[in-house]
Amino acid sequence: MEVDDVNTIAVLGAGNMGHGIAEVAALAGYEVRMRDIKQEFVQDGYESIEWSLNKLAEKERISQEQADAALDRVTPLVDFEEAVDDVDFVVEAVPEKMEIKTDVYEELEEYAPDEAVFASNTSSLSITDLSEATERPERFCGMHFFNPPVRMQLVEVISGAHTEDWVLDLTEDLAEDFGKTPVRVRKDSPGFIVNRVAVPLMNEVAWLVHDGEATVEEIDSTTKHDMGLPMGSFELADYVGIDVSHDVLTYVESVLGEAYEPCPLLEGKVENEELGQKTGKGFYDYEDGEGVEIPMDEGREDVEAILLAVQANEVAKLIGEDVADADEIDDAVMLGLGYPEGPAKMADEYGLDELVETLEERQEESGHPRYEVADYLREAAEAGGFYGGGDEGEGTVEYDALTVSVDGNVGHVRIDRSHRMNTITTEMIDELDAALDGFVEDDDVRAVLLEGAGDQAFSAGFDASTAAAGSGIDAAEMSRHGQQVFGRLSELPMPVLAAVDGYCLGGGMELATCADMRIATSRSQFGQPEHNLGLIPGWGGTQRLRRIVGEGRAKEIIFTARNDYDPETMYDYGFVNEVVDVDEFEDRAWELARDLASGPPIAQKFTKRAMQAGRDDVDAGLEVESSAFGHLFETDDLWEGLAAFEADREPEFEGK
Ligand code: NAD
Repeated sequence: MEVDDVNTIAVLGAGNMGHGIAEVAALAGYEVRMRDIKQEFVQDGYESIEWSLNKLAEKERISQEQADAALDRVTPLVDFEEAVDDVDFVVEAVPEKMEIKTDVYEELEEYAPDEAVFASNTSSLSITDLSEATERPERFCGMHFFNPPVRMQLVEVISGAHTEDWVLDLTEDLAEDFGKTPVRVRKDSPGFIVNRVAVPLMNEVAWLVHDGEATVEEIDSTTKHDMGLPMGSFELADYVGIDVSHDVLTYVESVLGEAYEPCPLLEGKVENEELGQKTGKGFYDYEDGEGVEIPMDEGREDVEAILLAVQANEVAKLIGEDVADADEIDDAVMLGLGYPEGPAKMADEYGLDELVETLEERQEESGHPRYEVADYLREAAEAGGFYGGGDEGEGTVEYDALTVSVDGNVGHVRIDRSHRMNTITTEMIDELDAALDGFVEDDDVRAVLLEGAGDQAFSAGFDASTAAAGSGIDAAEMSRHGQQVFGRLSELPMPVLAAVDGYCLGGGMELATCADMRIATSRSQFGQPEHNLGLIPGWGGTQRLRRIVGEGRAKEIIFTARNDYDPETMYDYGFVNEVVDVDEFEDRAWELARDLASGPPIAQKFTKRAMQAGRDDVDAGLEVESSAFGHLFETDDLWEGLAAFEADREPEFEGK
């Protein structure tokens, strides 16, 4: 069976995950039978789908007709036979209890066609064990969505011991057809990939607090502000539910042994029903206390080394057990947990030798098996890193934050950090610099098209975690470097088109400003919100925006610090050249880019050069901008702005 043969999908369970999976499948055009055990449960699930589809239409992610058509494709059912008797593919999303799932499979076997493929959305149970409860273990695999399925990009596709390869291929194709990114988990390993990385890390931070080695504040300050993870470790534990992580950990321990022994601190929280946000209290107090408060500057280098080491060890075990490769693990963790970089890459950057040493020292001191160095970690350290270290030839660039290609005569740069709203990092700026070098050297490239991956953002600006980790960075230099690289777009001989779909904010808008033309979808949003953070636009915004919209409008945009300028207004201001419907956007962007690429290259080069030469001398302005940017990094107002941004409150600036 191939993905084209799949027309009808049954989703068993209409709960949190089931209704989300049904929605995603219906949106992709499949007929969906959604089954639960009571009419009210299927009805609730159906109404949740309706609500979510209407929200997508409201936000113009889809049209109202698409929303209505998707809902029409979902049939809510209680009758088991009716739900599965002619389906091609079944996704099971009933409660995480072996007995419930095996009962469901027994009934499923009774009514489902023999050729149908079964997939379980289990987060932790063994796919092999589950498959053996059916009569078709070779046609059974894991299809692990993340919550909420409509928004989360990752789907882990897990092989059981009996799963045939075509079943995994089919399930991955289906996930792709749903608009998701599948990552294959080649072996049925407890916690699969994402939980296997996340849960031991959570256990480790709990041990550090339990043993009095670090405080909750120090750890969350380290993870969030120094390592740049989207949440502090304890903040994440409270968000996910401490019981949920504890259950996964207990299961992993039952299979892999005492290295995964849950820390008593986690057990105590579960016993006291302090499970996190959902009970009002966990590691933080959400009812009587202030909720999550993470200090900016209590991060500790020794804690960071321990956490990176524990994480790297887990990655090494997964690779050593042939569950997945380093890049698959990195992709899964970035998409599943919103990490700015994958754990293997983070470890390589830190240095595997040092991480091995950290683990050895810790094991000697504590004797705990969780610090035992995985064989593969030693091998990778010897090879110079998970990614092999040193063998990148001098001058070759490995693109990570960008996807760079040449299509006909169009040099194409796609900002590829959709898991972080395509926010800009210093590495991305270096990659852009290298991409532009490549385009200049390539005679085929006669126009450049710049866009953002995914449908949420062109770029939502500067990656705030880079700023948060900022005490040690030279902000003035970072500003100067960005100004210079972004500025290269206007200095390139060929025309540059920025195609904006979604957020185009802060540094993202400064980047788009450097293009020669801009088109935007009707759902895009623009703004330079830096003043909200006590900052100024630092990548050319104080100089270059006014050349396009005039000084009055540029001041308005920067002073109001709004992040919701709509494309029609930006069209009226002269910033956007053309506003297009979402459906036509991609085609129109390429059409325009190709049109520009077919223009006369020499005339285009001179037009750009002449316009550039005729401008005011802005070098002095740029110099003031970058030194001011550096100065602002030393102010209290910036920290107040960042803290207010994170806490989603109004900042109180004191001019200090
Ligand atoms: P849930 O409790 O919200 O939903 C489960 C639904 O299954 C309920 O509506 C229940 O009435 C229904 N159900 C029970 N027996 C059934 C049967 N015999 N036939 C059909 N429906 C039946 O749970 P959930 O959070 O949606 O989790 C479902 C599965 O997804 C679990 O295996 C869980 O581990 C996994 N999962 C959950 C998350 C998450 O974040 N919630 C993430 C990934 C995977």
